[in-house]
Amino acid sequence: MDTVSQMEMLRDALRNGTVEVLACPESGTRSSLVLEETYDPRGHVPPHYHDGEEILVFLEGEGILFIGQDPRSVAGGTTIVIPPGKPHCLYNTGLGRLHLLAFHPKAHPEYHFVPGLFTDETNCYKNPEELLAQAM
Ligand SMILES: [Zn+2]
Repeated sequence: MDTVSQMEMLRDALRNGTVEVLACPESGTRSSLVLEETYDPRGHVPPHYHDGEEILVFLEGEGILFIGQDPRSVAGGTTIVIPPGKPHCLYNTGLGRLHLLAFHPKAHPEYHFVPGLFTDETNCYKNPEELLAQAM
């Protein structure tokens, strides 16, 4: 899958969020991908995992990142490494936008979405408020 079709798939999956490609093979990388993601308040990316690791560098905003079942608070300045194969999802809990960079050491990381982990069959949160209350 090329970067353009991969980004189309990812954009379809995001809720109230956008993703832009900062660096990819088409722009000169040999084996990595750097994405810029922005989520409006309550925006999120549904649970998914990758075949390689992912490094998230948060620039601005506040959110909760679930890695497996473990919730972690994230904010501007936070850096988190997600191991290969570990399901994760991100939710903007702040009043402003949540802004981050995502580094993938693989140029075309696989995205495996995980319906049912925290979500219903449409891959949307069953009840975000309940989920967040548990995480606080
Ligand atoms: Zn991811």
